[in-house]
Amino acid sequence: MKKLFFFENLKFLIVLLLIVNFSKIEKIQAQKKSLTQPNIQNVIDEAFTKFKDLQGGKNADYIKELANVDPNIFGIAIVTTDGTVYTKGDITSMVSIQSVSKVFTMAKVLDEQGPQVIQDKIGVDATGMRFNSIVAIEMQKGKEINPLVNPGAIAAVSLVKGADSIAKWKSIVQIQSDFAGRPLSMNIPVYKSEAGDNLRNQAIAHLLQAYGRMYFDPVESTDIYTKQCALNVTAKDLAIMASTLANGGVNPITKKKVVSQATVMYTLPVMSIAGLYDDSGIWFYNSGLPAKSGVGGALIAVCPGKFGIAVVSPPLDQVGNSLKGQKVIRYVVEQLKANPYWIEPKN
Ligand code: GLU
Repeated sequence: MKKLFFFENLKFLIVLLLIVNFSKIEKIQAQKKSLTQPNIQNVIDEAFTKFKDLQGGKNADYIKELANVDPNIFGIAIVTTDGTVYTKGDITSMVSIQSVSKVFTMAKVLDEQGPQVIQDKIGVDATGMRFNSIVAIEMQKGKEINPLVNPGAIAAVSLVKGADSIAKWKSIVQIQSDFAGRPLSMNIPVYKSEAGDNLRNQAIAHLLQAYGRMYFDPVESTDIYTKQCALNVTAKDLAIMASTLANGGVNPITKKKVVSQATVMYTLPVMSIAGLYDDSGIWFYNSGLPAKSGVGGALIAVCPGKFGIAVVSPPLDQVGNSLKGQKVIRYVVEQLKANPYWIEPKN
């Protein structure tokens, strides 16, 4: 009799445990619902409709060729770390990658030479000044900058392994292409337009050299940097590049291991402190996502472990970030609860 009572109670306990566990699973699924396939597509469709007629902003024109780019190009792409591609709008038009390329060259140096080299030879601090500030170099004698502002980016190019400028350029095109999952090529008019008019970047490189913080010929390093900025990309290419970072360095489409997990771990924090020029703090405060913009109108953001997102829309705000790009990504992050600092309490 006692035995029977014990077994009845045991059955009751097991049923109770099952119910509790099922409700826990349901709760977890409810949290994850935001990242289902139809949800992601719906959210980018909505974002496209919501912001397609947004007025304001202006193409960059300090590189003359950028002023001629169609300001109506507007493409959104998300690539999840399982390799699913979601797109809306114009994802075939190419724009020059510009500053977004700085992320992947920094990753190359990190991968080849380790995090200490970046920290010691360039720096990982926000300068608090414009991306091409000469004062920022002067104030710290070339130290305490980072690879996402022009001086740090040109220094990163100078650090890329290669016996001469041809070898360095080859290595840079290769890493940018590996991130994108296809061979990228240069927008020649954009390159020529900037190369014919980049005395400021040349000055930056020379000043760094004067402080012993340039690691290859300054003229050639600036030229390679200018070529790198002129690589042509679509919104989809950019989302794949971002997703490769989100996926710990493995391209989710080609499955190639492009860089190590450690490289990604050191790359994302620099994007968090210096990704969007003088609005990097405002961006990170509102989205929680490491990101990078470029004056060609590209903006990428990385949701670690989940997805990469990119928008191409050339009109920039006063600070130099794609106006629609910021609106779209912030909307998507909010709708999909993709801010990594959105934390579900355990009970
Ligand atoms: N090639 C551009 C420059 O050096 C890139 C600027 C940017 O996208 O921030 O001025």
